[in-house]
Amino acid sequence: MKKIIIAIDGFSSCGKSTMAKDLAKEVGYIYIDSGAMYRAVTLYSMENGIFEGESIDRERLRRELERVNISFRFNPETGRPDTYLNGVNVENRIRTMAVSAKVSPISALDFVREAMVAQQQAMGREKGIVMDGRDIGTTVFPNAELKVFVTASPEIRAQRRFEELKAKGQEADFDEILANVKQRDDIDQHREVSPLRKADDALLLDNTNLTIEQQKAWLMERFREAVNDGAENTDNNPKDRD
Ligand code: C5P
Repeated sequence: MKKIIIAIDGFSSCGKSTMAKDLAKEVGYIYIDSGAMYRAVTLYSMENGIFEGESIDRERLRRELERVNISFRFNPETGRPDTYLNGVNVENRIRTMAVSAKVSPISALDFVREAMVAQQQAMGREKGIVMDGRDIGTTVFPNAELKVFVTASPEIRAQRRFEELKAKGQEADFDEILANVKQRDDIDQHREVSPLRKADDALLLDNTNLTIEQQKAWLMERFREAVNDGAENTDNNPKDRD
């Protein structure tokens, strides 16, 4: 069967990763969480005195970026990939509120985006990949055969993130999370380089009132359509299929 690229973009904490990971597992594709890459650069910056308080030492980050090696390794216990920063598993450390609070300014830096996008494009060269993020359908893979743009209300997203952190035994305050979700939406949508926006040919999914199972079924159906369409038609425009 022909392999395709699936780009899943959308707002923070709207369940993109869950649906992307589940689909990749089901269809035997590679899953890449592009947000984890920006989070890893943020963690590196915080731990190496590059990002202190509100200030980012851009020149140092620019110089050191090529030494920031980010990779993913499958974790058989969770059945999902873990993020590694210079060979060390940072999967839990990149998901803390401290990193969430600082990731958007880091990911707004043009040279950081350039480096991450180049790595992401290299990962998709063979196709057979599901990648989620903010600019996957617009900048990283503008020719992806299937593009989905996910959204949900900020309150629902904050509630989901709250429950996720609680389940992991991490500190969680609903109001702080909601403020962070809204702040990240704002920075992500208004930054100069690759702002968060729906690609013209992306399918819109508002999952405010959907269960994970319903989303999963919806995405699987879109995947089947995209793969079958690709066999008959090569213009790769998912919108034409509705
Ligand atoms: O997806 P996640 O919420 O983990 O992403 C963390 C942050 O990384 C986002 O708030 C956004 O600022 C940034 N990001 C990005 N481009 C991507 C993926 C994530 O700017 N493709």
